[in-house]
Amino acid sequence: MPGGDDLPVVDHHCHLSPNGEGIRAAARFRLAGGTHLFLCTQNYDPEPPRTLAGYAAQFETTLDLARRVRVETGVVVYPVLAPYPIDLATVASPLGLTGALDLHCRALDLAGALVREHRAVALGEVGWAHFPIDPEVDARIQTAFDHALGVARDVGCPAVVHGPDLDPAGFSALAERARLAGLPERRVIKHYTRARWPEADRHGIPPSYLARSDTVRAVLMDPGPWFLETDFLDDPRRPGAVLDLTTVPRRAQRIRDHRPEVADRLWIPFAESVEKVYGRRPSAQEATAP
Ligand SMILES: [Zn+2]
Repeated sequence: MPGGDDLPVVDHHCHLSPNGEGIRAAARFRLAGGTHLFLCTQNYDPEPPRTLAGYAAQFETTLDLARRVRVETGVVVYPVLAPYPIDLATVASPLGLTGALDLHCRALDLAGALVREHRAVALGEVGWAHFPIDPEVDARIQTAFDHALGVARDVGCPAVVHGPDLDPAGFSALAERARLAGLPERRVIKHYTRARWPEADRHGIPPSYLARSDTVRAVLMDPGPWFLETDFLDDPRRPGAVLDLTTVPRRAQRIRDHRPEVADRLWIPFAESVEKVYGRRPSAQEATAP
């Protein structure tokens, strides 16, 4: 097959929920040709956790889903853990700003400990709000983000960043922030990137592109590291809010079928970039039969 029979097919950012389609969505991903999922945690309850034990339970739910996806569908799963940045805003009213920040930082420390134990591969999503927010709350969220970068540095793992769309000045500021925290820019990934900027304008920050067909077409010839993702939400109340989990394998298959001369470029998001940023190289053989 163009691109090689051993090409892994990797979605760099998705969510699965025990209350949603869950394992069955991963099975559809596998049947479509997917081999590896970066599975990011999320709040599984309507309200974010108000205690560290609540975050511990949330992370264990993600890790349990990861284990079940692996066993039941053959997909290799890389868990990504962190308290969601906006949680801090939600729990600020019951806990107060200081209490909310303290809980958030302890939850980041817990996620870091799980990475250190090799149960997760990165911190995510970390970052700041993608919408205007009370400045007092935002100040705490920014402090928490700097704490997250420090944890990623100490643990030696990447940080997957949530936030508004970045322009070149935004990428530059994020790269500077990573440097100040002692984390290499290459380990700070801008998740949900929708616009392509030339490499020089990204200041070393790898983008994880939303896998829309026009975006994939636009970025395919770019040098790595960069990733493709769906940000699949697995939320039955919001069908179609983001791309379906079969999107990345379907895009890959389309390129292999219709543009075989560029199919080798798919090694950049699916293997080379993962190796450069995460220090591990996915291989199609790791995924077992669905
Ligand atoms: Zn997400």
